[in-house]
Amino acid sequence: MRKYDIAIIGAGAAGISCALACKQKNPNKTIIILEQNDRIGKKILKTGNGKCNLGNVHLYETSYYNWNYIQNKMKQFDVIKYFKKMGIMTKQDEQGRLYPYSETAASIVDILRYELERQEIIVQCSFMVTNIIKDKNFIIQGMQDSIEAEKIVVATGSLAQEKTNGYQLLERLGHHITPLSPRLVPIKVEEKVKPLQGIRVKCLAKANGFQEYGEILFKETGLSGILALNLSRYVNKKDEIILDFAPEKSFLELKEYIKGLENRDLSMMLRGLLPKMLILDILKKADTIETIANMIKNYRLTVKDLYGYEFAQITRGGVDMAEIKEDFASKIIKNLYIVGEVLDVDGECGGYNLMFAWMSGSIVGENI
Ligand SMILES: Cc1cc2nc3c(=O)[nH]c(=O)nc-3n(C[C@H](O)[C@H](O)[C@H](O)COP(=O)(O)OP(=O)(O)OC[C@H]3O[C@@H](n4cnc5c(N)ncnc54)[C@H](O)[C@@H]3O)c2cc1C
Repeated sequence: MRKYDIAIIGAGAAGISCALACKQKNPNKTIIILEQNDRIGKKILKTGNGKCNLGNVHLYETSYYNWNYIQNKMKQFDVIKYFKKMGIMTKQDEQGRLYPYSETAASIVDILRYELERQEIIVQCSFMVTNIIKDKNFIIQGMQDSIEAEKIVVATGSLAQEKTNGYQLLERLGHHITPLSPRLVPIKVEEKVKPLQGIRVKCLAKANGFQEYGEILFKETGLSGILALNLSRYVNKKDEIILDFAPEKSFLELKEYIKGLENRDLSMMLRGLLPKMLILDILKKADTIETIANMIKNYRLTVKDLYGYEFAQITRGGVDMAEIKEDFASKIIKNLYIVGEVLDVDGECGGYNLMFAWMSGSIVGENI
């Protein structure tokens, strides 16, 4: 059986950053990455609409679920410096989102692949790990082959637009997986919104204590757009979402404005405020100045469900963070490390999920 010092399962952002950091610090260690797909970094290619939103300069408590467990390491991680050290120049947009200067995700995967080759890290693609046995060392079993490693890093990612048995592998080793669900995903609503399909509108969205200003895109059966994706991290079935389509105006100001339009066709005049189909929808449901103004400020929708993993950017849930040390070592199994999205950590839109993957991967790589 082939034997390595370190085996990393998963050649995504977390697994690759772990391998590179580890080899840099320990050039004499033998490292192998096992990847079930026929090539590395497949998900990275999809990120940021193909532009790879690889990080963000802003960091808030609300940026991550389970922030308490990761805040110290996240605050220390300088993502711009991290890429600069790798020779990758980044650019920043007005929201602090970071992209490679080339604005192409493929360039990031190309450079990561080149760095893996340059540092002579073995990458075995089309190797799906089916079981891990902890003996004195770890025996990592695949469909055709098994390998042995002294230390292992599980970086198997999540169910969002991918298949993985990473959760089961870790459960069999004694870890607990918190409930899994798709997030950063469009939201299905109970109300009929088909007439509004295709409308993009800026609004303040509120639900379960969360509130954010941004753009909503109405879909045939629900809501999409970055704002809806971020909302999906805070809502579940039956929850109420309130959209304020005129957050800069108070209810009274809005009422006065509508009052001033008396004797004119509101379905025409209010088009200066909101898209035509939205106005028609509101006027169908409200017929007094008061109720119209109220509906513009408090447009209520009820969550029917979230769309599935095939539309999701991330998975909520994963390995229970109470079982993970601050350096991402397992508290349950010695010499096992767990990084990236397979953990019960998730971030909002804007580069936070990749940033966590780079950070957790490189922390383990440096300390393993
Ligand atoms: C459409 C889309 C757009 C996104 N856009 C952004 C964005 O712009 N910015 C951002 O920050 N985040 C974005 N994300 C989220 C981000 O891509 C992930 O959070 C991040 O890639 C997670 O990194 P990871 O290394 O933990 O997992 P992954 O990148 O998923 O890597 C895990 C790897 O493990 C492999 N694997 C799984 N199981 C096994 C097994 N048993 N054996 C061998 N290999 C296995 C998988 O094939 C995969 O290659 C997006 C996600 C999607 C789906």
